[in-house]
Amino acid sequence: MIEVRELTKSFGGTSVLRGIDLTLEQGQVLVVIGPSGSGKSTLLRCLNALEVPTSGTVTIGRARVEFRPNEKPRKKDVLALRRQSGMVFQAYHLFPHFTALQNVMEGQVTVRRRPKNEARAKALQLLAKVGLEDRADAYPHQLSGGQQQRVGIARAMSIDPELLLFDEPTSALDPELVREVLKVIRELAEEGRTMMIVTHEMKFAREVADRIVLLDGGVIVEEGPPDQLFGQPREARTRQFLSLLM
Ligand code: ATP
Ligand code: MG
Repeated sequence: MIEVRELTKSFGGTSVLRGIDLTLEQGQVLVVIGPSGSGKSTLLRCLNALEVPTSGTVTIGRARVEFRPNEKPRKKDVLALRRQSGMVFQAYHLFPHFTALQNVMEGQVTVRRRPKNEARAKALQLLAKVGLEDRADAYPHQLSGGQQQRVGIARAMSIDPELLLFDEPTSALDPELVREVLKVIRELAEEGRTMMIVTHEMKFAREVADRIVLLDGGVIVEEGPPDQLFGQPREARTRQFLSLLM
């Protein structure tokens, strides 16, 4: 189970997340939408401990960390949290000097301490899963954006995380490549992976999400199942945000 309680994050004097509460059951997909600057990336980065939250409690599977203002969290706790989630970034962030295969092996060896032969076998299996078994030896610059992002997804899954985090995984892609990436994410949802996805693809969000959260100004404005949030939003702010997308 994923649980976020009273999560806040400030940069200097600016508070970016202002008390986020979320619960996600195993196998659920939560889609986060909201205007630019509302804190969507910061929320995901806090869950993955890429940013240290200012305060609040984050529980992902077996890892539970309580953050307090002006108190540096223990390194061990941060690492424990980081091991529970795999992140897929908008700009892929693959290692440019590693092949697709090596990119998917790296975390397994360093984070999970798997023997190389085991990591290689698993990486090949994951590359096959995202439709790239024949591109294992290609370097990122030899791959299309859609292919690079599929390597990114294989990499995020390689450490068997409790939670997969996607930060606008298709917004850097040409329209014809978006589909192949969404297809992979849709398959993961059908397999019952627990995922949090930030996306502007509203049609996809509606299809794949169990719940949608609208974030604005660092707070959750509204949360609900897609049919309700898109079909009968309760909050004026939600209606206003959705009307801008039409
Ligand atoms: P977008 O849709 O444009 O990606 P977002 O919802 O992901 O926006 P965030 O990237 O989380 O928004 O940023 C939220 C706010 O926090 C913004 O005002 C941003 O300038 C600020 N912010 C994010 N990271 C930092 C940082 N490292 N230092 C200072 N301010 C930051
Ligand atoms: Mg963002």
